[in-house]
Amino acid sequence: MKYHIWTVGCQMNVADTRKLAAGLDRAGCIATDAPEDADLVVLNTCSVREHAEDRAIGQLGRLKKLRGRGREFRIAVMGCMVGPRDEDLRRRFPYVDVFARPQDFAPVMELAGIDDSGGEFWPTTFGEPNAPTAYVPVIHGCDKFCTYCIVPYRRGREKSRTIDEISREVEHYCARGVREVTLLGQTVEAYGRGLEPGGLEAGRWRADDRGRPPDLADLMRAIHDVPGLERIRFLTSYPKDMTARIVDTVAELPKVCDSFNIPVQAGDDAVLTRMRRGYTLAEYLEKFEMVKARIADAAMVTDIIVGFCGETDAEFRHTYELLERLRFDKVHVAAYSPRPGTIAHRTLADDVPPEVKQERLQAIEQLEARISFEINQRLLDSEQDVLVEHRREGRWSGRNRAGKLVHFEGDAETGAMVRVRIGRATAWSLQGTALPAPVPA
Ligand code: SF4
Repeated sequence: MKYHIWTVGCQMNVADTRKLAAGLDRAGCIATDAPEDADLVVLNTCSVREHAEDRAIGQLGRLKKLRGRGREFRIAVMGCMVGPRDEDLRRRFPYVDVFARPQDFAPVMELAGIDDSGGEFWPTTFGEPNAPTAYVPVIHGCDKFCTYCIVPYRRGREKSRTIDEISREVEHYCARGVREVTLLGQTVEAYGRGLEPGGLEAGRWRADDRGRPPDLADLMRAIHDVPGLERIRFLTSYPKDMTARIVDTVAELPKVCDSFNIPVQAGDDAVLTRMRRGYTLAEYLEKFEMVKARIADAAMVTDIIVGFCGETDAEFRHTYELLERLRFDKVHVAAYSPRPGTIAHRTLADDVPPEVKQERLQAIEQLEARISFEINQRLLDSEQDVLVEHRREGRWSGRNRAGKLVHFEGDAETGAMVRVRIGRATAWSLQGTALPAPVPA
């Protein structure tokens, strides 16, 4: 059987797609890039923004036409568009064979005629051939219920995987050439809550009734010495869950990259309250300073929503000023779009006109382009260790420790760690030339 998986959305969705593909591959199915050649087409969807949902609906329209032309194939929709109740989706898209909630692979495997009871399946390829990076979900779901966000309704409550299970997965990847893992969670520092108390011994978590549950710091220590592993990243931080213990561990462990993605979402307390983010701006700044005090040159990334319900010019200006002050390495910015089923959709008016949202979006993008450009200029003539991810259009590409994209020329191969001298820097990437001596593993 040939299958095609279409994916949109966050890294968690990418990880889910790779896992599903691993299960299908293990059963002898063959991946194809062309949906028109596939016997099974899976859409792995995202609901965080309206635009992402619209793209999935567009894909469904194309698949319906293919069916109309007499092509016989099965269609599965999984991911965040599928909630606990799918009657509405069934009514709107009666030609879809199966709807599966995020990480619920069994209905899709069943649709492919595969008995899924054979235990764990983990990816053996990671996107590009020989790609040296892998995503590892460590905590699923979210308990925070920010008013604009659909994730807790679609991915459920926070649930951590055990350290042993995650360690085995990381060992499996590294035995196949992976050198960098990204530990994923919607709120990754919440990792461990609800797990068995105990303590770390020789990299394994031993449950007992005297200890405390593990946290992200324990998890990082547990996987740190997996043979072959060179870099550990983690995403996404929720400000209130960040602890000094975790930041100290990031500072201490050489393989953990000093790069933090801490969404602030808005730089104004009234907006943060309407979003129910659970912190004030002062509390956010405290966490930001806690990181910077321990790791002065940590790379900082944040997320911003502009045009949230009731956002005034003054409130938006506070966000703009915050970004000017904190000078993030990178800002992911999006204009607010109401998501049916969320608290904001039920209780707050989406009253910022679309053209104002666009103006604010562009203002943040321009500000960020300038700041990123200035930050990256400081890296001119520096030497950066780059983990090579692929070669396209005659040049190699990978990321430095801070997670910045680096394109370079010279001798390299996918999966190698190469030292690159930076000769050019833009807001979005660094460019340079490989230095002859490889970095010792
Ligand atoms: S922390 Fe808030 S924004 Fe992030 S996934 Fe949870 S509810 Fe959504």
